[in-house]
Amino acid sequence: MTNKIAKRSLRILVAGGGVAGQALAFWLARGGHAVTVVERSPALRASGAQVDLRGQGIEAVERMGLLLEVRKRLVDEAGVAFVDSRGKPKATIMANTSGKGRQTLTSEYEIMRGDLVRILHEATKDDAEYVFGKSVDGFDQHASRVTAHFSDGTSGEYDLLIGADGQGSRTRRTLLPRGVDPCGMGISGGLVGAYVLAGEINRNPADLPAALANYEQVLRPFVDEIQGEVNPRILRMGMPLSKHSISAFQSVTALACFLHIPDLVARMSTQDRGGDWQLPAFSDALAA
Ligand SMILES: Cc1cc2nc3c(=O)[nH]c(=O)nc-3n(C[C@H](O)[C@H](O)[C@H](O)COP(=O)(O)OP(=O)(O)OC[C@H]3O[C@@H](n4cnc5c(N)ncnc54)[C@H](O)[C@@H]3O)c2cc1C
Repeated sequence: MTNKIAKRSLRILVAGGGVAGQALAFWLARGGHAVTVVERSPALRASGAQVDLRGQGIEAVERMGLLLEVRKRLVDEAGVAFVDSRGKPKATIMANTSGKGRQTLTSEYEIMRGDLVRILHEATKDDAEYVFGKSVDGFDQHASRVTAHFSDGTSGEYDLLIGADGQGSRTRRTLLPRGVDPCGMGISGGLVGAYVLAGEINRNPADLPAALANYEQVLRPFVDEIQGEVNPRILRMGMPLSKHSISAFQSVTALACFLHIPDLVARMSTQDRGGDWQLPAFSDALAA
């Protein structure tokens, strides 16, 4: 006996072939949908500095079966040093390698963004259609489908358009009220969000409004958790602009490091970022 339900295969357009867009393509293709990823860059944007995977983001990669690939390409980062104008370290915060508590500024999973993007592309390029050098410039939402308008003047009809077009997302700006910003835990948030969104769509392809409502309900506590951890005032303090404030920041950080405060806080924390929110299971919904 099987609990598989008759699937409705959807035509899904993903705007943006970065981290979240490709993770969406991965899971949606497994759900049996026809996925097109449109990326405005003429080729895969495998650039950027190193990024970190944290908490549930690590588990999301593990569920994709890609953790080993990620591990092979980790950046060897022992910690983060705050340096003076001559490059001399004034304060150093090391990675928490104790296996307990939370990660410091350096995660156990630091990887060059380009390597992560390439791993995701390798895992999805045969299952989803990728179109490079074209952007999604607008869309018209109809009752049960969407018409997407592309930068080359063409249009296409889809059952669903998903905006995975990054921090400056045009799609998100069109839909959300002003002032609603994406959250700092960008990589892990993108991977977790893609997993939950695709999982809910795969579970309920015949009722997209219900799938999207479930996605909001399931993911909201995680988003609240990681957004609540971002205090803009503290972030601003960590990016001082004047000579005096840089010097004050370095003195305070040096004292804190001398007293091992960042290390102790990390080790004594009961949870990593993202709190105790658990990644849901979607096993039967992913069986194509
Ligand atoms: C080139 C680059 C370098 C980055 N470097 C870092 C870094 O060093 N450290 C860090 O923490 N984060 C970096 N980020 C941000 C980080 O990748 C994201 O915040 C995080 O991965 C969330 O993923 P995302 O898929 O939402 O966004 P992104 O990874 O930013 O991907 C969005 C993709 O959408 C494409 N796009 C945008 N608008 C459209 C459109 N209208 N139509 C089609 N495609 C569109 C973009 O070209 C991009 O490839 C970088 C992003 C980019 C694009």
